[in-house]
Amino acid sequence: MSTLSDPFGRTISYLRLSVTDRCDLRCRYCMTEHMQFLPKRDLLTLEELDRLATAFVALGTRKLRITGGEPLVRKNIISLFRAMSRHLESGALDELTLTTNGTQLARHAAELVDCGVKRINVSLDTLDAEKFAHVTRWGRLEQVLEGVAAAKAAGLRVKINTVALKGFNEEELFALVDWCAAEGHDLTFIELMPMGEFDDALQLSQYWPLSDVRARLASRFTIEPLSERTGGPATYVRLVESGQKVGFITPLTHNFCESCNRVRVTCTGDLFTCLGQEGRADLRAPLRAGPDDDLLVAAIRDAIAHKPRGHDFDYSRTGVAGRMSRTMSHTGG
Ligand code: SAM
Repeated sequence: MSTLSDPFGRTISYLRLSVTDRCDLRCRYCMTEHMQFLPKRDLLTLEELDRLATAFVALGTRKLRITGGEPLVRKNIISLFRAMSRHLESGALDELTLTTNGTQLARHAAELVDCGVKRINVSLDTLDAEKFAHVTRWGRLEQVLEGVAAAKAAGLRVKINTVALKGFNEEELFALVDWCAAEGHDLTFIELMPMGEFDDALQLSQYWPLSDVRARLASRFTIEPLSERTGGPATYVRLVESGQKVGFITPLTHNFCESCNRVRVTCTGDLFTCLGQEGRADLRAPLRAGPDDDLLVAAIRDAIAHKPRGHDFDYSRTGVAGRMSRTMSHTGG
């Protein structure tokens, strides 16, 4: 089967697949406290997720990132990792990974390794237990730190993703950097995206541009820009004194569209071909039309043929960020 190329000659080799909209935390910048989750019938089943991911792999996807919601709260999610490991074993897939809040990692780290996962992203905004409970509305920092420790002990490489929040983790910047250096974790900062549907003044006042984060780092470290790009919105530097690699994800900028190699699929089977979310294609209907994958493959090909050249965010278009918790696309995450 020929691989997926869009009209601008970009090869699509990276799929982010959301497996649930549910989460056991309610990070204030991500979800409202009383989230209405989707009815179960709307979610793709684990078998459908397998078929869908497998179709992408057959079409040239080399990297598969499982995300959510919180992927590890989905019942039996390890069976999907196990199923995907056959693509690693066959050589069709280079990397199987996930983005997680870490609460369930202590339970699952060893199984993930067994399924061929080598690297994971863990979202963590603070090392202060009280602040952690506040930002997540009820999370226990200790549980996440245990999860991260279990991941490390199991042999997983961990990248910590931290949303930069003014007046919240600003004063912890060096503590986070030092902790990651001591533990051997990579670290990436994510710029806060305004979630329009929350109408929360707090969010805008907490916006901390990553240019400032970088300048603050430069007050203590020599910063060496790295040329590596991953086809997404992250740029990387090395802190010369500690040797650490630090990433910056600015989801709302659009200086990476030329090299964009990625698409994402929500837990309901909506395919988004651009971070700007202009294009959406329903893959659930073709999946449910029958056991044959012809319709599914045709729908994927058709959507990629319409992948936009790039995106340019308009902060007033509130729907964009508002849907992110179901589709979360940019991060590391
Ligand atoms: N539950 C998993 C986790 O915590 O990583 C995966 C889904 S979570 C929505 C993915 C990432 O999006 C996390 O790193 C989270 O901090 C980030 N995120 C959520 N809302 C955001 C926002 N408004 N601005 C920037 N990043 C956000």
